[in-house]
Amino acid sequence: MFKPADKIQDLQFFGEFGGVNPSISDSSTYTFLSAKSMFDTFEGNTDGCYLYSRHSSPSNLYLSAALAQMENTEAANVTASGMGAITAVLMQLCKKGDHIITSRTIYGGTYAFLKNFLPEYGMGVDFVDITNLDKIKSLIKPNTKVIYLETVSNPLLEVADVAAISEIGKTNNIKVVVDNTFSPLSVTPANLGADVVIHSLTKYINGSSDTVGGVICGTADFINDLKNVNNGACMLFGSTMDSMRSASILKNMRTLHLRMKQHSANALYLAKAFNEIGIKTVYPGLESHPSHEIYKSMYNNEYGFGGMLTIDVGTLEKANAVMELMQERNVGYLAVSLGFYKTLFSAPGTSTSSEIPADEQLEMGLSNGLIRFSIGLDNDIERTFELIKSCLKDLNVI
Ligand SMILES: *Cc1c(COP(=O)(O)O)cnc(C)c1O
Repeated sequence: MFKPADKIQDLQFFGEFGGVNPSISDSSTYTFLSAKSMFDTFEGNTDGCYLYSRHSSPSNLYLSAALAQMENTEAANVTASGMGAITAVLMQLCKKGDHIITSRTIYGGTYAFLKNFLPEYGMGVDFVDITNLDKIKSLIKPNTKVIYLETVSNPLLEVADVAAISEIGKTNNIKVVVDNTFSPLSVTPANLGADVVIHSLTKYINGSSDTVGGVICGTADFINDLKNVNNGACMLFGSTMDSMRSASILKNMRTLHLRMKQHSANALYLAKAFNEIGIKTVYPGLESHPSHEIYKSMYNNEYGFGGMLTIDVGTLEKANAVMELMQERNVGYLAVSLGFYKTLFSAPGTSTSSEIPADEQLEMGLSNGLIRFSIGLDNDIERTFELIKSCLKDLNVI
């Protein structure tokens, strides 16, 4: 079986002066010794020549190469944010008159872009329960260009059968685009047939909650299309990552394999413990999760089921009180986002998914009492559980 971490391990980048870290490129523009080679570079005919850092920079290429290795794709291109990656991919693949099928449980920003923005540009979008393969098939039209999904959805932690959906895509000549932000290393969508894999690097991959970033992983042709000076969405929308940032993300990425194992082990421990004290818990690693077997059929098992879990404490008032008390007792931070060394928690209905109207939230099972956790790297997770339990007890949730 393909082991992505080993491929990160195989990377060898030398700095300009023999440093063990690649030098950071500190230039927006690049000189040419001859005018002819400048022209050729514009036309995309010269390898190893840099033109202008919105197009590419040495630092961005190092990080892109590392991410392509991780996702087992031919190439990758880093962007200034996860949304910068998502919007560029959708605008590159779909034009006026095209149709997109998307999971209805996706990141709030992606949902807003698909719901409010793309239809204004003449694209049709259907939102589906991504676990219902027959429904997906029934929505396919001759102009369907993309099926869009998250491996593990935000915030409901629904798991998509990436292999089966990729098969549907292949049969119907539709590109399958997977946002793999919640499950780096744990699931490798390209190995399951996905055409394009996206991450918000802001989360696990950088892991230190100090940077916003994104990446698009795909075929060399697609990545080149995105960077095309005439019609490439990355090049023309300009959501370029800064070289300083890509250098720091590359350094953080080297411990991703260790961090993911710890996030997953801690989350599994807590999910089981919450379950035992009768708290409604959703975690793909629990046998009670409706897609537990599907996750198992896809995952690189040494990385587990990821660090995200949700509990339901009944009402928004209770959720808020629990979160405030947990922050007071230093379980972690009341904050959106994920992948940090400390545990982060938020109530998705009023934060990261607030773009989704209340009635639609209800329909997709996003209840008001839901607390989403990004479980941290705690060394003593038993103590963390006791702390959380004390908060739940003192607020009469249990
Ligand atoms: C955070 C997030 C995004 C957006 O990424 P940014 O880096 O904030 O632009 C997209 N998808 C998922 C699943 C996310 O969690």
